[in-house]
Amino acid sequence: MATTEVRARGPYPTPYPAPSDPPMDYKMYVGGEWVESESGERFDVYSPGDGSLIGSVPKGTAKDVQTAIAAARKAQKEMAKLSIPARAKLLFKASEIAYRRLEHDSRVLCRECGKTITEARDEIEHYSAPHFIEAAEGIKRYRGRVNPSIQEDTLNKRILVIRQPMGVVGIISPWNWPHDIPNIACTHALAAGNAVIMKPASTTPYSALMLAEIYEEAGFPAGAVNVVTGPGGVVGEELVSNPGTNAIHFTGETVTGEHLTRIAGIKRLMLELGGNGPLVVMDDANLDEAVEATITGCFYLAGQVCTASERILVHEAVHDEFVEKLLARAAKVKVGNPLDEDTDMGPLNNLQNVAKVRSHYDDARERGGSFVMGGAIDGMYSDVTVVDGVTSDFLMARDETFGPVAPIMTFKDIDECLRIANETPYGLQGAAFTSNLRTAFLLGEGIECGTVLINETNNCWDQLSPFGGVKKSGLGRELSDWCFDELTEIKQLNIDISKVK
Ligand code: NDP
Repeated sequence: MATTEVRARGPYPTPYPAPSDPPMDYKMYVGGEWVESESGERFDVYSPGDGSLIGSVPKGTAKDVQTAIAAARKAQKEMAKLSIPARAKLLFKASEIAYRRLEHDSRVLCRECGKTITEARDEIEHYSAPHFIEAAEGIKRYRGRVNPSIQEDTLNKRILVIRQPMGVVGIISPWNWPHDIPNIACTHALAAGNAVIMKPASTTPYSALMLAEIYEEAGFPAGAVNVVTGPGGVVGEELVSNPGTNAIHFTGETVTGEHLTRIAGIKRLMLELGGNGPLVVMDDANLDEAVEATITGCFYLAGQVCTASERILVHEAVHDEFVEKLLARAAKVKVGNPLDEDTDMGPLNNLQNVAKVRSHYDDARERGGSFVMGGAIDGMYSDVTVVDGVTSDFLMARDETFGPVAPIMTFKDIDECLRIANETPYGLQGAAFTSNLRTAFLLGEGIECGTVLINETNNCWDQLSPFGGVKKSGLGRELSDWCFDELTEIKQLNIDISKVK
């Protein structure tokens, strides 16, 4: 669990000119009003890219969460009464607003998160904004069913299995996809007739606040969408432990998720947690494609993605050729100011993550790993790094590094490959490159992950299919119909029609 008291600050290796954007001093959005915390306290938010102050936001308290829960409970009754077309219409309106604001919101996202401006536009345009439309379309096609009855009197028995809103959904999100991740849960929860309270990560509160502006302008009932900013240990814990929330959509570290299972009590928990995904390169793989997938898998958003390729498992027969091609391609990845259009990779988001990545590099050095590229960290910026000769005892093999490193491990046959791929407590996304169909099935079925991608990078997910992890990578599935399954209650409506007119 990250403590929220340590903010992302320099030193910064390159004296980038601080952007001249005006400070963004937002309030929180509760019950349809923009409000300060009841404590009156605020905290500053800095850009990891250049150390500039972005602005400040309220430091919410448990009491602020309780106020938001009361507002959400009231608004939820209104949401449930809205017809499906009426909810869909609001979501379509929100999508138009999100696309209109794309350039502004991408720039703010880039500054608070540290992902490049291209990645920031990608997050809003191709991931977050489409959720409005997918949820609006999806809820129109989401179905209950009519079940057969065990009773003899089948003529008079009717059993309907219907779906009803959960109630109030708490949404706690991380800093790496601060617009997309809360919006997956938000759009689908609202479409299904729930009200929501978002608690964004403290290094990236602005994306959720900008989402609140979108929902407000679209005309959602006051209190249907709320955002409370502030420390996870205070705001997040209250959201999870307060009996006034019926479901929690949490995305973050496994250790935080495990903690939340202990304090949640009896309520629906969707947990999207850490990953340690393998990317397998078989001896019959197209190496150029595998190299490109490794670049995206390891260096997109400086490796700070739950689905990142955290371990590159290469068949010993193609090891030398693969590494040579990877080094040639990785040398072209340009690290720099995320606001520059031609930057490929920006900084790490926060000091805790810098410390974690550094500890993994140090451990790899101590264990004799060969740093064939990079390995230095300057301020918030890590080199593009490739470590060869990694074995199962390395920290970067055992745990999620969340940094821009490609750890190369070798194997001699498919059994050894599967053993290495699965010797991790995580199971989010695995990838494998092969041109053999039998091998594709053996790996696809054998790698213990919620998703296995054959001939595709780990850092890829399809918005219309279920996403989520097995083992310590999570509980439940999001995106598409599966998201509605998590955000609604099943009710059995059992009617004896002989007794009604
Ligand atoms: P954290 O677990 O540190 O924080 C995630 C969120 O939880 C933040 O909003 C944080 O608030 C809040 N939080 C922290 N402590 C508590 C607590 N005690 N009670 C309630 N809420 C709390 O994760 P990171 O933000 O560092 O995110 C990185 C992690 O997220 C990685 O492990 C990554 O793999 C995972 N992730 C998983 C995804 C998936 O879909 N499986 C997708 C994206 C990321 P605050 O910021 O104020 O501390």
